[in-house]
Amino acid sequence: MDNNFSKIKVIAWDIDNTLYKRSITLEKEIMSVRNRWLANKINISIIQAGRLIDCEYLKTRNYAKALCYLAKISNESHQKIFAHINKKNHLRKDLRLMRLFKTLKTYRHFINSNSNKKHCLDALEALGLKSITFINLTRLYLKKCFILPSSLPNSIYIGDHEEYDILPAKKLGIKTIIVWKRSPYADYYCRSIYEVGRLLS
Ligand SMILES: [Mg+2]
Repeated sequence: MDNNFSKIKVIAWDIDNTLYKRSITLEKEIMSVRNRWLANKINISIIQAGRLIDCEYLKTRNYAKALCYLAKISNESHQKIFAHINKKNHLRKDLRLMRLFKTLKTYRHFINSNSNKKHCLDALEALGLKSITFINLTRLYLKKCFILPSSLPNSIYIGDHEEYDILPAKKLGIKTIIVWKRSPYADYYCRSIYEVGRLLS
């Protein structure tokens, strides 16, 4: 094992777009929820809401930012809009992911998610990770330093999003791995989630 990881005992995981990539059907459901929610919020048609979001997206390249700007809401409020979507309906068992967690069985695993605990556990079960013991956290907790401070030096955070995963974890002094894409702020990068095992073990 790399010396950099010899003290790591805890892995904090983002779920969405980290443990799995969103399917087209899930993207469609998210888009539908987003458009409907904005239409209700500012009293316009769903089609108008979709057009507004798309226009704003062209400026920011980020749907979350576009919706937050148009509805004048915070990112925390934004995340709650999608909390009811049950990812289980869009996921299937991932044998490579199951093998990865077998190789990481000596670590304690934390989950960092905005979804409620049941939805997190449903998603993990659908991916074939039911037998893994996770402790659920939320991004809010992460931002408020709710991870046991004594475990911080022994933790590594794994996520796909620079702004929502890597930067908050870095703020807490947690080492980070970004997966699927690069970030200059992350300590390590893996081309896919499946490469994490090779990095850590
Ligand atoms: Mg994510």
